Amino acid sequence: MSETVIVANGLTKVYNGVKVVDGASFNVDSGAIVGLVGKNGAGKTTLLRMLTGLVKPTEGDFALLPNRQRESSDVAAIVEKPSLYNNLSAMDNLKIQCDLLGIKADGQYLAQTLCVVGLDPNATKKVKNYSLGMRQRLAMATCLVGKPRLLLLDEPTNGLDPEGIQQIREILLKLNSENGTTIMISSHILSELSKLATEFIIMDKGKILKRVAASELESFSCKKYRITVDKTGVAKEVLCSLGKAEIVGITQVELTAEVSAAEILQKLGAAEVSVRAIVQAGDSLEEFYLQTIEEKSGGEQ
Ligand code: ADP
Repeated sequence: MSETVIVANGLTKVYNGVKVVDGASFNVDSGAIVGLVGKNGAGKTTLLRMLTGLVKPTEGDFALLPNRQRESSDVAAIVEKPSLYNNLSAMDNLKIQCDLLGIKADGQYLAQTLCVVGLDPNATKKVKNYSLGMRQRLAMATCLVGKPRLLLLDEPTNGLDPEGIQQIREILLKLNSENGTTIMISSHILSELSKLATEFIIMDKGKILKRVAASELESFSCKKYRITVDKTGVAKEVLCSLGKAEIVGITQVELTAEVSAAEILQKLGAAEVSVRAIVQAGDSLEEFYLQTIEEKSGGEQ
């Protein structure tokens, strides 16, 4: 039976009379990668801050790794600007982190950890001269160094370029599969989260609206197409009869509709629009999220 790693009961945070997190109750099992999804202000950061002990819940309680004797290195987090020592190198930052956590690590292990996040272990550059992306990588290294059982991450790919985002994803997947680290991660990049998470918690206005497993999303239809054409104006007009059509570039139209690519080609062909490419651009997580939010706002009217 898998171990429960997070238990949250009615976690609530009130700021200025507003419940910014409102009665969040959930369990997370060991080995899961839970994606926290929600627009800005939904309460994701506040929820993660409560779980890391940075903020005291107004109501409710929680437990991390409730079934075991916790070591200080068992839980790691990046939940706000990473606290790094600006006047030191990456290697020295990592050494201090090990001292703080009581981890005995040799130079080779520390160098390996820096290499894993794409930083040069021999670089003497002080962290104050690092780019945002390098700081994020070092913050990730300070999390990884203790081989945590639970990792709490708030938008860890902020400020990273696409290559950096991919590297962080690979690091997290490796940590999860090789060490069994449970991860709770928030990101506003849904396409990125959907490549990573095994389940999703959807939040809106402080409330958990839905929780869904990645496997359940696979059956959720993906019905957005991006079509490259020669005449976007005509294409949009024609495609409007099939669903929601929008011009999204000089040569591109996006169509959201429950139709096949063949039907689209046939319609455009009949209108003498030449089609250069047609790709499914929809993301099932994004669609599920939008539908969940729509259902919620419909229910509120
Ligand atoms: P998210 O991470 O989903 O964008 P946050 O948890 O950062 O959401 O914010 C949720 C709401 O709580 C927002 O309206 C935000 O302005 C408010 N909030 C967050 N922290 C504080 C604070 N320290 N004091 C007052 N309001 C806050």
